[in-house]
Amino acid sequence: MWTATRGASVTDQPTRTVTKSEDEWRQELTPEEFAVLRRAGTERPYTGEYWDTHTTGVYQCRACGAELFRSDTKFDSHCGWPSFYAPLAEDRVRYIHDRTLGMERIEVRCATCDSHLGHVFEGEGYDTPTDQRYCMNSVSMRLVPDGDDDGSAPARG
Ligand SMILES: [Zn+2]
Repeated sequence: MWTATRGASVTDQPTRTVTKSEDEWRQELTPEEFAVLRRAGTERPYTGEYWDTHTTGVYQCRACGAELFRSDTKFDSHCGWPSFYAPLAEDRVRYIHDRTLGMERIEVRCATCDSHLGHVFEGEGYDTPTDQRYCMNSVSMRLVPDGDDDGSAPARG
């Protein structure tokens, strides 16, 4: 329906932000995706799709498609979740202090749609350039292998 207020109170909101209602997210996501992305849940270790994946490509946010991580920063942390030592770019993620479970942790969310991705840990002694571990949920991401960005079958030799 046309409304008289249209155009009168429009503010210049950032165009790249994705905002959806809980109902919209529920319709678009599977129950498992919803529980993690929108309820800050955690998938069980060693059960996710990507914890042991070495495919070259880009990991996108499963909720909004924003590119979050590249496979070249993924490393074998043996913790049961896909782990990266740095995001694709710092502005792709946002950080929130999380004091649940009696621990001081840093939650990592998608900067575009504010969906929960996982946590970042520091100073654990992993042999990586940053000594950080972005401990992500597989269900929060979708891997797009290199050369497969148009949705066609990947060319594999
Ligand atoms: Zn997102």
